[in-house]
Amino acid sequence: MVIIINKRLLNNIYREVKKSKEIVIARHIGPDPDAVASTIALRDSIRITFPQKKVYAVGATVSRFKAYGSLDHPNFNNLNNPLLIVLDVPNMHRIDGIDDLAYSKIIKIDHHPKEDINAYLDWTDTAKSSASQMVCELILNTKLKMNKKIAENLFLGIVSDSERFSLKNTTYETFDTVKELLRVSKIDFVPLYDILYNRPFSEHKFIAYITNNLTIDQNKFGYIIIKDDVLKEYNVDSATPSNLINNYHFINDLLVWAFVTEDIKNDIYKVSIRSRGPIINNIASKYNGGGHKFASGAKPKTMEEVNNLLNDLSKACLEYENKDI
Ligand code: AMP
Repeated sequence: MVIIINKRLLNNIYREVKKSKEIVIARHIGPDPDAVASTIALRDSIRITFPQKKVYAVGATVSRFKAYGSLDHPNFNNLNNPLLIVLDVPNMHRIDGIDDLAYSKIIKIDHHPKEDINAYLDWTDTAKSSASQMVCELILNTKLKMNKKIAENLFLGIVSDSERFSLKNTTYETFDTVKELLRVSKIDFVPLYDILYNRPFSEHKFIAYITNNLTIDQNKFGYIIIKDDVLKEYNVDSATPSNLINNYHFINDLLVWAFVTEDIKNDIYKVSIRSRGPIINNIASKYNGGGHKFASGAKPKTMEEVNNLLNDLSKACLEYENKDI
């Protein structure tokens, strides 16, 4: 059985779901597999448990993630103050697809450090590997139902956000939850890795481009600025670098690394940052960003801001290297 400390909170979340006739589930903009998988899994679980309810998973559709299932585009005018459940996001302005939604209250389930979302029920736990792990624990410990597709999505979300159980956010609880998930669902999980890790050869060439052009400074800080024409040349989009950045976790010469991608459409730079030691989310938050201690993102608007961010990250590496001297 999965060990849960906050059983009462989970029961309260379940009770609120049971009480609500209409529910909208949302996650962060620029979603990753965990955000998409946890949202769709929770929607599907509520739907099969309470078929009479109206339950919607909202947010922009990302074609790369179509294997997880489709999202909903309800007309909010037809809803009557639904319950809003937000997953995998701590800040109000980063919730995707709820503009113009008049909701009654918010339930929040998230593993990022707390920010400005003020929820009626708030399950924030930065010790969890992923939002998918949290949704999985919610389902396994309440009367919410599971099926094969839900289990597959949750497995994918956990594997992806923990980078195959290799990141610091992986704990014995993660394994405990996954063990229970596999035991009750009996899913054939090995073929699922294709969904996360199969890539076209052009994307592998793009990985080679990043590797060949990554600058690593004397403080073990690595960075690359990826221009729009390079994205076009390799037939990838501005979201691709953040999907590849975890590949660089096991490189001795790197302490922190940042991929800066030109986002012409939105006239900003999209920065993904990862760390093997220094805390980076406090730095990212100075540049229109945030995230986890060791996995963050930012959206600086000018090249000057980008340079300042890169300098701050390099300095954090130097301070980290010198801290025991
Ligand atoms: P990414 O590099 O895009 O995969 O993001 C890593 C982590 O940082 C995720 O948890 C994101 O939700 C978070 N994050 C990314 N960009 C931002 C941003 N501009 N503001 C706040 N958090 C962000």
